[in-house]
Amino acid sequence: MLPLIAVVADALDDAAPPLNQRLAPYAPAPLVAAVVAAGGLPIVLPRPASEAAAAALAKAYLPHIDGLILPGGPDVDPTYYGEEPLAAIGTTDRLRDAFEIPLIRATLAAGKPLLGICRGLQVACVALGGTLYQDLATQDPDYRLRHAQAAPGTDPTHHVTIAPASRLATLIGTTGFVNSRHHQAVRMLPAGLRAVAHAQDGVIEAVESVADDRFLAVQWHPENMWQAHPEQLKLFKDLVVRAEASR
Ligand code: MN
Repeated sequence: MLPLIAVVADALDDAAPPLNQRLAPYAPAPLVAAVVAAGGLPIVLPRPASEAAAAALAKAYLPHIDGLILPGGPDVDPTYYGEEPLAAIGTTDRLRDAFEIPLIRATLAAGKPLLGICRGLQVACVALGGTLYQDLATQDPDYRLRHAQAAPGTDPTHHVTIAPASRLATLIGTTGFVNSRHHQAVRMLPAGLRAVAHAQDGVIEAVESVADDRFLAVQWHPENMWQAHPEQLKLFKDLVVRAEASR
């Protein structure tokens, strides 16, 4: 049986003609295709209708999934890490946070693996007690690279240095050339996680768990790169391998 890889849905902001669907759940097509290419069976998890329903829904999904992908998306609501929203914060979506945070905790507690992408890295760190820069440009004194690239999303724009003794290095080596579509980043890592890749200005670009292989998250978007840069597909293949091992 192929491992079932759950992808948390975003909600389409605009009504989609001609069906006039509002807040339709969706996942990026290249991400779903990457799961298939990696040998996984993708399913998309719609977010809940209310914050009150979120934790129960996350718990109900858990027995059915073998691995979890947390895709990119809106900024995490900073009240989840004890801060008020600063002027430079972007769009937030409490319903998605309310669903993803218990789903992340439950997935890891059940010994199942996750792959975080961009916001996915950030929300997973927040779920475990970490904090974020709400806006790198106004909060991080060392910030100087363009992390919100204007180049096409399929193009890499900045390099990352990867810790040699890391799972990520075994997949793609000790340097990476990656795309970058974020204005936030991890500020304080929670216990149990470590940074395994940095950009030249010190921004955390990848995080792994210290004691096991359940947690791997990257700040870039491998789903937009894997077709032209096949090393990025290894992140998805690795999630499938970890999902198979956890069954
Ligand atoms: Mn970046």
